[in-house]
Amino acid sequence: MLAAIRSAAVLGVDAFAVTVEVDAAAGLPGWTMVGLPSGSVKEARERVGAALVNAGLQLPPRRWTINLSPADVRKDGTAFDLPVALGTLVASGQLEADAVAGLLCVGELGLDGGIRPIRGALPLARAARDAGARALVLPAANAHEAALLRDVRLAPCDSLASLVDHLRAGTLPSAPPAPTPEIAPDQACFSEVVGQPLAKRALEIAAAGGHNVLLIGPPGAGKTMLARRLPSILPPLDDDALLEVVAVHSVGGILPTDRVPTRTPPFRAPHHTISLPGLIGGGPGPRPGEVSLAHRGVLFLDELLELPRYVLDAMRQPLEDARVTIVRAAQSVAFPARFLLVGAANPCPCGHDGEPTGRCRCAAAEIARYRSRLSGPLADRIDLHVRIGAVALAALGQMAQEEPSAHIRARVVAARTRQRDRYAVLPGVRVNGEAPGRWLQQHGALAAAARSLLAEAAERLRLSARAFHRTLRVARTVADLEGEERIEASAIAEALLFRGNDSQEGGAPR
Ligand SMILES: [Zn+2]
Repeated sequence: MLAAIRSAAVLGVDAFAVTVEVDAAAGLPGWTMVGLPSGSVKEARERVGAALVNAGLQLPPRRWTINLSPADVRKDGTAFDLPVALGTLVASGQLEADAVAGLLCVGELGLDGGIRPIRGALPLARAARDAGARALVLPAANAHEAALLRDVRLAPCDSLASLVDHLRAGTLPSAPPAPTPEIAPDQACFSEVVGQPLAKRALEIAAAGGHNVLLIGPPGAGKTMLARRLPSILPPLDDDALLEVVAVHSVGGILPTDRVPTRTPPFRAPHHTISLPGLIGGGPGPRPGEVSLAHRGVLFLDELLELPRYVLDAMRQPLEDARVTIVRAAQSVAFPARFLLVGAANPCPCGHDGEPTGRCRCAAAEIARYRSRLSGPLADRIDLHVRIGAVALAALGQMAQEEPSAHIRARVVAARTRQRDRYAVLPGVRVNGEAPGRWLQQHGALAAAARSLLAEAAERLRLSARAFHRTLRVARTVADLEGEERIEASAIAEALLFRGNDSQEGGAPR
């Protein structure tokens, strides 16, 4: 007897409908899976057999053939366990075909008959909706994320036995309540950072204008502590951004299953020894890399200048296109990767250049070679360079009244609103950090005094075209934070504080 159970498979951050056909034939008992299953899908036989028995059901000795259709796309993961188990129940007469009609089913089975969480529940829920399924049967642990998609009936379940009871009775497990995502309540706050006014100001500008940042300072200056607080002043994720972030985190297997996802932008801080697939994406599935797990949030790369050249080069596509394309033998998969990059670096190989103690013994040529590692596409994309000094011990003892993140975030949100109107005419650009320098030169609304100050600084400091445009972008954000229509000279002066030391370099502007 033949049974057909509807299911779906994840590809990238999307999912496509799959029909699981299960045939039980007389003859020598056996188990064959066809339709391009990966190794983890093939292991379903062991899990399904044990789960059925431990749920008080049976896997009768038949010649079982399971076909995953369409057969020409490779299927990965463990989400087919549940549809395969249900298919064997229908094919062996333990469950009526009508009981599962119109349902789309996904879930991993434990040997004990439990239904375990899977990756990609949100994309799978979207596939269920698009396929017009009556309901999505899914692991209870995945209900929070799938429920973000409000227009699909969910039937979350944590054991095969209770699911079969429901289906035999013609009922479905009850749907979860509609979630109300909030900002994470337990975020690190800028009020905990004593001093460092210049670095805090730079991060406020970075958040407001979507500028990538390089923090340069000696070890222990608090670069990581500052970067970790950047998500707390970014605008909270709106509904669309939240769904994008949850989808990529779900496929990446890092979404917590015990609570409703939050609107706080993600923060990712991979170690500088991370592999290329770990950073960019790849592996089985394929899976998203750190650049995609940081989508709509912050990617913090400590020891940025220690990263191998080929890793820095691989950052080019995500920084320019806000996405990553992973090409496989048969297909290519795209992951979103629109993140704010915060790099941290020591000022010189020993880390102590610029300190009044005179500890640094690095030769000028060594320092120049070290800093030149930041060049090419990466340098082009980092608008803000911030020197951070070691925090004086006296400052650490003070309990100064520092501004909390929520106050800073309110200014950031207001500045973002002004940019949204400005860039309605430029496709793909939302913030000053993404604006072409030439466009801003014409349309950035430079006051006359600002224009002459910028021209004079370009001459005196021998600013490269690249540094000139960086300064202009940052100044536009300073003006947006002030609520100014035009860029005044004071905004140019502040932007010049963050220009870095590439005044002599060449390189074409963008
Ligand atoms: Zn040094």
